[in-house]
Amino acid sequence: MRNGAATRRLGIMGGTFDPIHHGHLVAASEVAHHFSLDEVVFVPTGQPWQKAHKTVTAAEDRYLMTVIATASNPRFSVSRVDIDRPGPTYTIDTLREISALYGPDVELYFITGADALAQILSWRDVDELFRIAHFVGCDRPGHALLDPGLPEGRVSLIEIPALSISSTECRERVAAGEPIWYLVPDGIVQYINKRGLYRDQAR
Ligand code: ATP
Ligand code: MG
Repeated sequence: MRNGAATRRLGIMGGTFDPIHHGHLVAASEVAHHFSLDEVVFVPTGQPWQKAHKTVTAAEDRYLMTVIATASNPRFSVSRVDIDRPGPTYTIDTLREISALYGPDVELYFITGADALAQILSWRDVDELFRIAHFVGCDRPGHALLDPGLPEGRVSLIEIPALSISSTECRERVAAGEPIWYLVPDGIVQYINKRGLYRDQAR
């Protein structure tokens, strides 16, 4: 039930998007459908604190790939809040900033893979996170298990049709000269080729 005509439902999909792939896009589309979201904002991370020991592709390339991949969907948009904020990206800062930008009449749904959801209790300011947003964990059919430590009513799990695509696999495939057609949108294959991304890295 929508609680008031003025309330908008906004999904937030945070990620490194190095590169963005069809797993991310299907997850966002499924959650948008399931929760009747008005919009999903993709938020590429600045320097992700969980990946501080790894080299991550330049924020501008990851941002542009996210724009290219989402451009055709009128309900998808991309925010620069995390890449424009200096220092490591913490989800609490993302949610505070988006919440301030969109104002009080918005319900926030933070969309995440079940792998990330499992680590959520270790995130910064976890109590405030659950106050600001509803959390939606995406998993493959048959894998959906809710961690008993997560607060009741603030977290949902939904099953996404079999998608085992990961950015790591896409990067490894490019480095090995293997195709990534159909794992990512066509424009992303072309952007990666044009910019020569991932060719020389074994990560
Ligand atoms: P990497 O392999 O570099 O960790 P990734 O594929 O996990 O990349 P991220 O940018 O780290 O992509 O993920 C952003 C968000 O999307 C995370 O919440 C992650 O759990 C989720 N996610 C990643 N891949 C999928 C997928 N295939 N289906 C559903 N959600 C996914
Ligand atoms: Mg990941």
